[in-house]
Amino acid sequence: MSPQNASLGKVIDPFRFAAEARTQSGEVEVAKLPRLKDSLADVNAVLSWRLEGWLESSMLSGREEPRLKLLIDGALSLRCQRCLNGIDWQLAIATVLQPVRAGQQIPDEELEDDEVDAIEVEEGLDVMALLEEEILLALPLAPRHEKCDSPLGRNGAGEESPFAALASLRGSNRAD
Ligand SMILES: [Zn+2]
Repeated sequence: MSPQNASLGKVIDPFRFAAEARTQSGEVEVAKLPRLKDSLADVNAVLSWRLEGWLESSMLSGREEPRLKLLIDGALSLRCQRCLNGIDWQLAIATVLQPVRAGQQIPDEELEDDEVDAIEVEEGLDVMALLEEEILLALPLAPRHEKCDSPLGRNGAGEESPFAALASLRGSNRAD
């Protein structure tokens, strides 16, 4: 483990982590998650997380498959895409992952099971990178205040609402 990884968090062996039914938890400052930082109006937030591992008996393969449950909670301030001010947003992630060795085929049952996401693991699993990835996946794509104070938000300039697009489509049809 490099010193850099040691300071930021943990690189774990997810297969062992699951086989030994380990649990880790902690807190992470969002300021230390560089890709997440860009989506936030305020980076002074701390999220709490918990990772639980276990083995699950697979009906199909008859083997025990590794599982990781990742929980992440905390309040974030997202950046409104109209006015760029903060939007209070509660993050609550609870996801179950199945680590799969790189190059190994993803088990069929995983493809059928919506509750479990396969993650390919090459050597170790960087817990902080995993947290950041899962948080990014959970964020709304284009966060906006429901009632935005931005003049842009009020008159609709600079944005394409589906209704505006529909109206202009109808308009152009009529013109033809
Ligand atoms: Zn706004």
